[in-house]
Amino acid sequence: MTESVFTYGAPALKFGDGASDEIGYDLAQLGATRALVITDPGVAASGLAERVAEQMARFGVQAAIFDGVHVEPTDASMQAAIDWARSNGPFDAFVAVGGGSSIDTAKAVNLLLTNPGELMDYVNAPVGGGVAPVNVLHPLVAVPTTTGTGAESTTICVMDVLAQRVKTGISHQRLRPTLAVVDPLLTVTQPAGVTASAGMDILCHALESYTAAPYTAKERKQPEQRVPYCGANPISDMWSEKALSLLATHFRRAVTDGDDLDARRGMAMAATFAGLGFGNAGVHIPHANAYPIAGQVRDFHPAGYPADEPMVPHGMAVSLTAPEAFRFTFAAAPQRHLRAARLLEPGATAPSDDASFLPDVLVRLMRDIELPAGVGAVGFNDSDVDDLVDGALKQQRLLATAPRPVNAEDLGGIFRRAMSLW
Ligand SMILES: [Zn+2]
Repeated sequence: MTESVFTYGAPALKFGDGASDEIGYDLAQLGATRALVITDPGVAASGLAERVAEQMARFGVQAAIFDGVHVEPTDASMQAAIDWARSNGPFDAFVAVGGGSSIDTAKAVNLLLTNPGELMDYVNAPVGGGVAPVNVLHPLVAVPTTTGTGAESTTICVMDVLAQRVKTGISHQRLRPTLAVVDPLLTVTQPAGVTASAGMDILCHALESYTAAPYTAKERKQPEQRVPYCGANPISDMWSEKALSLLATHFRRAVTDGDDLDARRGMAMAATFAGLGFGNAGVHIPHANAYPIAGQVRDFHPAGYPADEPMVPHGMAVSLTAPEAFRFTFAAAPQRHLRAARLLEPGATAPSDDASFLPDVLVRLMRDIELPAGVGAVGFNDSDVDDLVDGALKQQRLLATAPRPVNAEDLGGIFRRAMSLW
């Protein structure tokens, strides 16, 4: 029997210029008495975490700050945060201030301070035990300072498990933040290169959830089998379509002129909308391919990011195979791919080959915002394809969300064609 039920979950949301000035009040309303602010050293240096902690004092909420979040968290870095919180607690609320890394670390800390056991018990099987939390978590307020990740809306926390050299995570409804505070003013200092990569992440969240296998394509589930990501559905479609229109208006402007506040607001809203969509529908091939692209990087140093470690930022890694992934998925849902292309570039003339419309629109955008011209441009070549395919195949949870079955040969074709996009 096929599925007839879909679910929709979302955090409460506070959006707009200055929204981050009210966190003390919001925490008091949530009943917090002693809250832990979780952030990374870069955000801490900007003074923002301190500012949030000071607001809490005015509402009688005690604050502590942990500023040791590792950008691209590992099981070890999350364990360090958990240990710190355990020895400096108790806490009855958490505030994550930063990018996806801080928000995901706060989800793990909240889980382990409210539930028995250790981190690896909860990590997705087969890497970890895949255990579900037994207790309700404390309130978590998520304050994203980079636009894109959607971590403030989602139920997952992603980490590198060092001993097994694999990127995986924990996924459960209870990990979803209680309140997302999205303040566009926090993103104005984001460099152009970061805005470009993060924007491609937003775009792919919208496109992948819009083209995901519909919830009706799956087997009927029992209530305890339901997962947060249930496939494309009418509610997630609505958020994805609106996110694409916002990106059409604001994306190029936000990259060219970071001081364009109207464009920054549009991007923050696009990120939020896309997060509310993909946080329920799920993502597929471009995100699966991004794991090995980021994980197997050798010597690529993108502009706008810290230069000390070679890296392919998440959004950039996601974008590099997206045009070819959507050429591959076109046949499964032609009308959705065509509509997405029109939403993203309303004035575009359709090419004679319908399957090329969305890839063409994406490539024009990527050129304009100066992203690398393909997987080859970040240091890979055809001899790496087998390893990249192996890495993508490990992301079966994501590949299962693709609108058509995808095997090693299909992925190899996508990676090879994506070596040079223009
Ligand atoms: Zn993403």
